[in-house]
Amino acid sequence: MSAIRSQQPLQPLNNGQLNARGTNITPIKSVRRHKEIPIPSADQNKQQKKKKEKLSALCKTPPSIVRTRNGRDYRRGNFLGEGGFARCFQMKDSSGQIYAAKTVAKASIKNEKTKTKLLSEIKIHKSLKHPNIVNFVDCFEDDINVYILLEICPNQSLMELLKNRKRVSEPEVRYFMVQVVGAIKYLHSRNVIHRDLKLGNIFFDPEMNLKIGDFGLASVLPSNEHKKYTICGTPNYIAPEVLGGKNTGHSFEVDIWAIGIMMYALLIGKPPFQAKDVNVIYERIKKTEYCFPEEKPISDSAKQLIKDLLSLNPLNRPTIDEVLAYEWFKGPFPDKTREVSLNETPQGLDQISRIQSKANFKNAKDMAGIYTPKTKNPVEILRSDLQSEQPKTLLPQSLSPNDTKNKYQEVDPDQLGRPRRVNFNSHFSTTIKNLNKICFETYQNIRRLEHSKHENIDTMELPDCENPTLISKWVDYSNKYGFSYQLNNDDIGVLFNDDNTILTLHNSTKFLELIYHDGEGWTCIENSLNHPPAQAKRQLEVVDFFARYMNSNLSKVSENEERKEIVFLRRYSRTPDYIMFEMTNGNFQFNFKDHHKICISKSGLAITHISPNRLTQTHPLIMVLQDGNFPAEHVPDCLKKIATIKEAIKKRAFNED
Ligand code: ADP
Repeated sequence: MSAIRSQQPLQPLNNGQLNARGTNITPIKSVRRHKEIPIPSADQNKQQKKKKEKLSALCKTPPSIVRTRNGRDYRRGNFLGEGGFARCFQMKDSSGQIYAAKTVAKASIKNEKTKTKLLSEIKIHKSLKHPNIVNFVDCFEDDINVYILLEICPNQSLMELLKNRKRVSEPEVRYFMVQVVGAIKYLHSRNVIHRDLKLGNIFFDPEMNLKIGDFGLASVLPSNEHKKYTICGTPNYIAPEVLGGKNTGHSFEVDIWAIGIMMYALLIGKPPFQAKDVNVIYERIKKTEYCFPEEKPISDSAKQLIKDLLSLNPLNRPTIDEVLAYEWFKGPFPDKTREVSLNETPQGLDQISRIQSKANFKNAKDMAGIYTPKTKNPVEILRSDLQSEQPKTLLPQSLSPNDTKNKYQEVDPDQLGRPRRVNFNSHFSTTIKNLNKICFETYQNIRRLEHSKHENIDTMELPDCENPTLISKWVDYSNKYGFSYQLNNDDIGVLFNDDNTILTLHNSTKFLELIYHDGEGWTCIENSLNHPPAQAKRQLEVVDFFARYMNSNLSKVSENEERKEIVFLRRYSRTPDYIMFEMTNGNFQFNFKDHHKICISKSGLAITHISPNRLTQTHPLIMVLQDGNFPAEHVPDCLKKIATIKEAIKKRAFNED
């Protein structure tokens, strides 16, 4: 959040800031599988044609029962598939749960570099947790093999789907792309570049959700400024800057390029730079020489996105956040991928209505974690992750701490502090999305009630009159950070200058972030104070600073209330006579300079007075209008104050500022 630019210590506040009273296709050069060799010359190419034995051939079928060092037994099942380096088998644990065991023969780990690469793959994969990434379960070894136990993806990969289907429809590809983009956004937020994204590395789980797998070429970049220089990847998917090798270097954008290749391949039926000779592929890539064949028509908006993704200059490619904003995603969008898709084109996808498509698109993004803010810490590879401790073992303790699987199962997701999207009722959603609408509704109601002042109150429908959630203390530090407030339920919030809010909940280890995403509007994410996302740490410091300040320096506006609802301050404005708070529950609070406070709730039907002595009373507005004042304690210039309130809300409703 841009509001916190300064990393300086927090500064003291001055009086004016305070409230009034207060003080996949076989890879050619993957690191382990095919050594990191430079692009072959024509002669070298001839030599290469002599087919090299794949390292995975060294992997013999594991015994029918694999026993881990800590005594757990896995029963080996069917052979699932083979890559350049590993073979994959089904494995069943004692509870009957089935996994995929990626099995690497120790005989294929011939040197330190290959070992480091394998351990780095394990470390990276083990650090990841996302709905569209193959889940890492455990890793262990016997004398012959290293086993990486993974969530099983029984429906093969996008490569097999394309082989069966020849071409895939645009609605289906839209759905696939959202899941892939969600996973890549997550990877990049954790500083991981996959570097081998291809149809054969994107698998289907039992529910037909896509899962990115094979982190054999993945790399952690310490920062956006760093680059990688190793030439690696799969010919058809290699980005032009990777071919530049030592001269250019490459970064996260290589994964964006691969999205373009996959999208093209799925829609047209083959990758854009396909040729028999790899050197021809590379020449075409370096010149971005490809076309959209007329006999395989695709929409103009699909072409536009592909063209942008396949920009020669990595910086001209859309960022991962920009991809889903492309026009193409506004087309027919299915609610999920069905198994039928594996073999044939599902019927009726083009007929999905605009409204339904929009809802499906939003839901797919939500499920792919698009709305989850960049909160994860970067993946870090430590020396201890890459060094075996004992002569005969390969896996260091840090990568297989005795029983990672049990650990994974026992940990309560809440304890891990994973961010959770909070859904609010429709009133909250309307208020947060369209403040002016609430202002308009409230203004209309106040006006209507003023006009019906002389009607018989007994014939009118009156609102419930419980006391609302109020702002009891505030500090305006918007020249630096934002506006901080304490509610009478003791929740403390800071509305930062970029309009996003952090709200720490009283008597809870949770805090909420109310965040605006371009194009998507407002989302509320619940986080744990015990595991705050890295980016929120500084903001929490700011909240804490204000909390301490308010608690020791400011007096309260009203008595404490139990939390009945979650309320945020949405907007505030100050005039010489009052400060106006617009809350996410649709309430308006006015603190007047004479220390009387008035809150309008129930869309203008109820009114609350908080006296300087903190006496709080709530009544139907019509009653106060008819009587000219509050019954329990009189408010100076009561009707004048209500008129001021009506005008202020009207101004907001008609955007008159
Ligand atoms: P390599 O590192 O050798 O390329 P991969 O990770 O690509 O190994 O796995 C090799 C093959 O094993 C894949 O092509 C696929 O057929 C199968 N496979 C890998 N992971 C899974 C999984 N989670 N579920 C089912 N099959 C898998």
